[in-house]
Amino acid sequence: MVGGELSSKCVVILIGPPGCGKGTQAGMLKELYEVESFCAGDELRKETASGSDLGKEIAQICDAGRLVPDRIVNLMAKKFVDNTASSRLLFDGFPRTAEQANFLINSLEKQWPVCACSFYVDDEVVMDRILHRFSCTKCGTIYNSKTKKPRIDGVCDNCGSKEFTHRNDDNEEAMKKRLDNYRTITNPMLKLFADLGVLHEIDSSREVAEVSGSMKDLIGNFW
Ligand code: AMP
Repeated sequence: MVGGELSSKCVVILIGPPGCGKGTQAGMLKELYEVESFCAGDELRKETASGSDLGKEIAQICDAGRLVPDRIVNLMAKKFVDNTASSRLLFDGFPRTAEQANFLINSLEKQWPVCACSFYVDDEVVMDRILHRFSCTKCGTIYNSKTKKPRIDGVCDNCGSKEFTHRNDDNEEAMKKRLDNYRTITNPMLKLFADLGVLHEIDSSREVAEVSGSMKDLIGNFW
């Protein structure tokens, strides 16, 4: 934890390579706890969907598997921090660079307790997960054509929609770039949290239920 008392804001950060399951774990935590969350990828996709000039710039970067410039993502994160009244904050996919990590720590005024969860899993496993991933266009429920198909073929389990979509950046070429970014930029950033004594490593090659069990044990002590 970074200083602070438990009465101040408590921050959980989920960091990991694409396909490590941090989005699934964020969903589980949001069901269990009253929490305000910031998912960097979702915020960027919202901007893209708005059709703004900034959104078009972001789409090009994301589709190529590159990282969006720090100033853009930091601004989005700052807006979230400034506008939330909750005492529990969840960051999913942010920070991903040392500059973002320092920006976040400074935005939090260095006084909120932080718990950084780093998910680790082999590249071959995430490549396989991502290349078979698709989601419901209407409600966003995520499926996998190998391991988690809808119960009725072509119909979303959650909302009944028959429309599905595949992310533009979930292809082999962009994935190689995203994994490379993770290895060379995000992974070294973890040292910042390790040095603060707030880094926790989670093996996310396991079944979802097992990973959720580890997360509940860890976060239960914290929130
Ligand atoms: P995700 O939904 O977490 O897989 O993120 C999708 C894409 O959004 C990434 O491959 C990056 O292009 C971009 N992105 C997400 N989070 C960040 C971040 N913290 N910094 C820069 N780019 C990001």
